Amino acid sequence: MGGETRPLMASTKYPIHAAGPVGKQITNIYKDRLHQFTNGGQYESKSLKSKLYEGKGLSPEFVKLHVYSPPDLSRPTFKEATSHEFKPTKVGEAFGPSWATHWFRIHLTVPKELCDKEHLEFHWDANNEGLIWTEDGEPVHGLTGGGERTEWILPKAWKDGKEHVFYVEMACNGMFGNAEGDTIQPPPKDRYYTLHKAEIVAVNLDARALSIDFWIIGDAAREFPGDSWESHDALQVCNAIMDAFIAGEGSKESIKEGRKIAQKYLGAHVDSAKVYDNDNPALVSGIGHCHIDTCWLWPWAETKRKVARSWANQCDLMDRYPEFRFCCSQAQQYKWLKEYYPSLFDRVKEKVKLGTFQPIGGSWVEHDTNMPSGESLIRQFVYGQRFFEAHFGQRCTTFWLPDTFGYSAQLPQLCRLAGMSRFFTQKLSWNNINKFPHTTFNWVALDGSQVMCHMAPSETYTAEAHFGDVKRSVTQHKSLDQDSTSLLVFGKGDGGGGPTWEHIEKLRRCRGIADTVGLLPRVRLGDSVDDFFAKLEKKVEDGTKFVTWYGELYFELHRGTYTTQANNKRNNRRAEFMLRDIEYLATLASLKSKGYKYPKKEIDFMWEGTLLCHFHDCLPGSSIEMCYDDSDELYAEIFATGEQVIKKALKELGFDDDVPKNSLVALNTLPWARTEVLQLPVKSSAPKYALAQGDSGILDVTPLTAATESTASIKEVSKGVYELSNARFRVHVADGVITSLYDIPAKREVIAPGGKANQLVIFDDKPLYWQAWDVEVYHLESRQELPASKTRIAEHGPHRVSVVTETRISDESWAKTTISLSAAVDAEQSAVEIEAEVEWRESMKFLKVEFPVDVLNTEASYETQFGIVRRPTHYNTSWDMAKFEVCCHKWADLSEAGYGVSILNDSKYGFATCGNLMRLSLLRAPKAPDAHADMGRHHIRYSILPHAGPLDHRTIRAGYSLNNPLRLHRHADPARIKSVLSGFRIEGAPALVLDTVKRGDDDADVSRGELPAREGRSVVCRVFDSLGGRSKGVLRWGDVEVKRVEKTNVLEDKGEEVGILKEGGGVEIELRPFEVATFRLIL
Ligand SMILES: [Zn+2]
Repeated sequence: MGGETRPLMASTKYPIHAAGPVGKQITNIYKDRLHQFTNGGQYESKSLKSKLYEGKGLSPEFVKLHVYSPPDLSRPTFKEATSHEFKPTKVGEAFGPSWATHWFRIHLTVPKELCDKEHLEFHWDANNEGLIWTEDGEPVHGLTGGGERTEWILPKAWKDGKEHVFYVEMACNGMFGNAEGDTIQPPPKDRYYTLHKAEIVAVNLDARALSIDFWIIGDAAREFPGDSWESHDALQVCNAIMDAFIAGEGSKESIKEGRKIAQKYLGAHVDSAKVYDNDNPALVSGIGHCHIDTCWLWPWAETKRKVARSWANQCDLMDRYPEFRFCCSQAQQYKWLKEYYPSLFDRVKEKVKLGTFQPIGGSWVEHDTNMPSGESLIRQFVYGQRFFEAHFGQRCTTFWLPDTFGYSAQLPQLCRLAGMSRFFTQKLSWNNINKFPHTTFNWVALDGSQVMCHMAPSETYTAEAHFGDVKRSVTQHKSLDQDSTSLLVFGKGDGGGGPTWEHIEKLRRCRGIADTVGLLPRVRLGDSVDDFFAKLEKKVEDGTKFVTWYGELYFELHRGTYTTQANNKRNNRRAEFMLRDIEYLATLASLKSKGYKYPKKEIDFMWEGTLLCHFHDCLPGSSIEMCYDDSDELYAEIFATGEQVIKKALKELGFDDDVPKNSLVALNTLPWARTEVLQLPVKSSAPKYALAQGDSGILDVTPLTAATESTASIKEVSKGVYELSNARFRVHVADGVITSLYDIPAKREVIAPGGKANQLVIFDDKPLYWQAWDVEVYHLESRQELPASKTRIAEHGPHRVSVVTETRISDESWAKTTISLSAAVDAEQSAVEIEAEVEWRESMKFLKVEFPVDVLNTEASYETQFGIVRRPTHYNTSWDMAKFEVCCHKWADLSEAGYGVSILNDSKYGFATCGNLMRLSLLRAPKAPDAHADMGRHHIRYSILPHAGPLDHRTIRAGYSLNNPLRLHRHADPARIKSVLSGFRIEGAPALVLDTVKRGDDDADVSRGELPAREGRSVVCRVFDSLGGRSKGVLRWGDVEVKRVEKTNVLEDKGEEVGILKEGGGVEIELRPFEVATFRLIL
């Protein structure tokens, strides 16, 4: 055996004798000690915090202040504001009131002793928002106030001892508006803000960097598991940094020494983007983002400024941090920037070209998706994508709604039709009953279309880029079996702001830890959200099977938003139907006469306004009162414009109401035949009602005389009990409620035994916190019936009968409901119509109306965009129970085999079906954030539509009809125009709905030039299957000469050609269940 010889004794310097006792560190004491180094408090003067600044220019001679205070809460432009006289002012003065603007001119001279310092900043704080402008009117930096984002880096050239001028535009509101204390309380009008800081500061950059090092390593000590060596190491590093600082008495050298110690844990590259320069795979993609609520606790006018403040800062950060990427949604905000801050818009445009500023979302605003109509959801995408394409040469591929209150079942289909295959949100993490089980999954629409959905596991879109956010990006990831990557969306938000330099610095250190020590998931900056999704899509291609979620992403919170701010919701429904009519009539007018100009400009104005009001705090009713003053005003403009446009189109089509000898006709803009009893203009001797009957377009109007066969009648069968009847129904009204609704041909009682339909009920409505947003499950326990005070006959017939009931709600509130039955004509559908006038002066109450029906089913049906959603009528599981209040559109329906009942409405969205009890939500009375929400007079229309047979096209059509009443007009020669007005229709498939008829957006005679015009003229027809079955029919266009037809996407891109039928002008179409299809007819 060979080998080396070993020494007999190990050579060691390990001392033979112990030098003295050494104790085990008490971990929690050494952890708690860390706060001393960076926090304020009794040791501040001896801490790192006291070393952050090397000097200050405080004296008024270095920072001279002058102010101009514009009158009447106006928000003048830079040019207007700076043309006024400014008066001297000083730190310590207060400025207000709430929502006022003050312009400051600042004459700044860097004191001699600071001229040689490395890094100078101007610090400004008045606890409110502001924007710094250069002397020549460039907006350069947003200020948040209250210690947040209060610093602006001074240009290097200003270290010359000379005086330099710039401006601060102060807004008298904080990031979250003007509430005091509780953020969602209505803001007071008289809030004042004291300017407490306006100074030049020299920053010790080493000290600043060490404080971030220390923060993140301290987090590692606190947040890594206590039994991990990584936690213990972090604690040792932090204590060593503090000890070095103490030993060096806080000298510059000791701070540099501290930074060196920090490198043991962070690695050597955290001071630059170099930290990301390696190929180690990263699980977490960090993306900067700034959620700016388009209105919420502040009005639109302030949002315009928030956009400039927030995005100016982001452009600046992009210049300083090469790895930084920032995404932002909402075309409307970009449009405002372009309009009010053109130079900043150009700067953003440059960054978009570089790929650092990333437009995302593809929609006009981050809208609500529960309540807007199907066509509204489409237009969000059309107007959004067209804006992004026109201004940045690109469309978005990710739909971005981090904060919206639940997601419609049809969104995946509509996204795909608008060029987007990806969807991002996180809001379902707010569910307060069930935890949503997936992070990354395929989300599937009613028609089977899917998008790749990711819900950030950090459960926020306003992450502060904390160590914990990075950690939770994996620990809270619920799809790790398929893929462990995730997005970390960081930056201050809701009130704007976006990422700060601290966020980016912190993430550098988190990455440093991941590469040096491990345990923390690796974060990466520099990619886009699209890069992130592209990798997921690649994984699908390579065979990864992500789980699926079919149907709506129901949000288990904020259920009150289907009802709050009733007037705003009513305006939305009205605008949607008006726009439908306008596009249809204007299309017909433009086809009839080449001299008629399709009113694209007015239509764009109306759509953009309506889309703006879909914002996820506007339509849901969760904004402050000012916002609803704004939306009322905008809707008024929309309706006034709409009336003008309709009038012009009708004129072009030969209608003229001013010529009495013209024939009276009813105009039916719906694409199917209608038969209705209509009220004629009041004239004492003439008949009061007429029968309008006929196909789409122009309906003949026959005045009804008493002798007409079909009638309705009413009698008082016993004291206070009235019987209303027509050929279909016999209705008993006792004490103002319907105790019996008998379907004569079906021989069936509709009301459940002992039930009272049209019973008004009131609930106590005090949710856990979010008043305007939430109605909580326990409100159901407080149900109280409102007894009628008085019932009388209001109309005797013979063509329409009514009883009116007065109900006292409280000393200040009352309701007057009119139950009516019209003559039923032939075999036509009939409904019990109800009109409610309500004077509503309640506090924290919820008014609903009930319909207990004799129908049994474990599921009810609710109209949603382009389809039907079925939801449980029971509370079997917590998922079923969570849907105790849900969203419907024009109707909700409870049917069993062979029979059912639909409840239709003209402006309501909240509904509940519990067992056989159907309940339409009418009015709420939250006091925050709008103290006066829904106070005042309301007019509501709804109806009960019993139907023999299943839920079918009769309900779909009745929903449209209730919302789009026939209109009486006069026409000189109705026969001549009849074919024009009934050309566009669908034959052979009652389930198919021709929902929209419009002109091509880029037709040469329509285009407004934002995108290249196309030669020739086209008509776009949108059709959908409304019942959820494969439908085959023929789309007809009457006498219009069509050369070619393409099935296209909603953006009207070139599509697949569809063969035109030889006879009669039309194309055969076949749609999947709940498919939405767009046909472009090229003329
Ligand atoms: Zn929001």
